[in-house]
Amino acid sequence: MCASRPAGKNVGGRVAPAANVSRGAKRVAFGLRTHLSNRRLSPRLKDVGRMSMNHLDDLLKRNQQLAAQQNAAGTLVASLSRALPAVKAIIVGCADMRVDPAYVLGIKPGEAVVIRNIGGRITPGLLEQLGMLGRIGEVAGAIAGGGGEFHIIVLQHTDCGITRLPGDPAMLAHYFQIPEGQLKAKAITDPRAAVAVDVASLRAIPALPGAWLVSGLVYDVATGLVEVVVPAAPIRTAKPLEQLAEHDGRTL
Ligand SMILES: [Zn+2]
Repeated sequence: MCASRPAGKNVGGRVAPAANVSRGAKRVAFGLRTHLSNRRLSPRLKDVGRMSMNHLDDLLKRNQQLAAQQNAAGTLVASLSRALPAVKAIIVGCADMRVDPAYVLGIKPGEAVVIRNIGGRITPGLLEQLGMLGRIGEVAGAIAGGGGEFHIIVLQHTDCGITRLPGDPAMLAHYFQIPEGQLKAKAITDPRAAVAVDVASLRAIPALPGAWLVSGLVYDVATGLVEVVVPAAPIRTAKPLEQLAEHDGRTL
């Protein structure tokens, strides 16, 4: 469907259900229409749908090539129960397009569960997802990491978009589900302080296995290097690494 066509008009012989379009989708559609109408595009470039399809075609071609390589190498793992014991870490990272943990840390397929949100922050929404992961592990009957060394890593970065939102306290307070007056404690504008705050938040969660190693990293978008701000250490105890084999066996 052409992005510039108003919702609710006749589309392909049918009437689009404008009444069912969510408010968020309407905002996105409005923004896109405004963006397009503000640009003086040549007739050829106005064919934005075609441009998008070309890019999508490229992505699908890359997928086909990757799938062929994986099938040839036998590296696909089609069973969640078999994949879970091979996971070595949960990484909480920012949604920013420059800081994909798989790319920045060279994560191989199946090596880590990556959860990304704005800022790579520990929020109630993020914790809800951790809880769901735990339940998925229980239902699948598999222990993440196979009972061995397992990491939970908070990966934030310099020049993060969230550092540009101090002027939106209501939005941030809702994000963290705290009063606006407590936002200072979240160190929104300082990734090194924020990563320490979030590691401390994880340490305070009794449901996380005490033997998991928690760490806080900051990726510098200017140098491409990752700095260890909070070194890896067990979540609740000071067990030496050799004792980590005595993992308490809890699922993810
Ligand atoms: Zn960011």
